[in-house]
Amino acid sequence: MRSLGLTPEEWVVRKRELWLAWRDRNFEHWQEYQRKYQREYRQRNSAKRTAYSTEWNRVHPEVSKAHSRASKRRHPEKRVDEEHRRRARVHGAGWEPVDRTVVFERDGWRCHLCGRRVRRSEASIDHLIPIADGGPHTYANVATAHLACNIRRGRKGEVQLRLA
Ligand SMILES: [Zn+2]
Repeated sequence: MRSLGLTPEEWVVRKRELWLAWRDRNFEHWQEYQRKYQREYRQRNSAKRTAYSTEWNRVHPEVSKAHSRASKRRHPEKRVDEEHRRRARVHGAGWEPVDRTVVFERDGWRCHLCGRRVRRSEASIDHLIPIADGGPHTYANVATAHLACNIRRGRKGEVQLRLA
């Protein structure tokens, strides 16, 4: 089939260009529609979706693991949280979900190791009693620190600083 002198393949490309151009012109409207549609769709199908993805993951364990690894790469902060949880469990210490931003806000964005201001991009959570020494991953046992200060201290293993 030929229309407007285009081959079927060219026509597919052309239609996609037209559609993208329309979407760009109506971007906000389109985005709002998408969000609304996706929200409604999720609500209607949440049980079905969960059952389906559980079954799919069971049948494709390798792909499922790869997806979860990729997702962890995209959300490094979640990976850190999980790692803390795993380590706290291994060492038999307590664990509660710790929201990094809550800790940073609580500490006024100040590094407890050097006392200077911490920007979000350089902020990390430091365990006052290290998890390796049996410290829990809880709000009471964490403090804001520059990632660099955190790593430097970790390397030296300075017990004095840890208790300061
Ligand atoms: Zn610091």
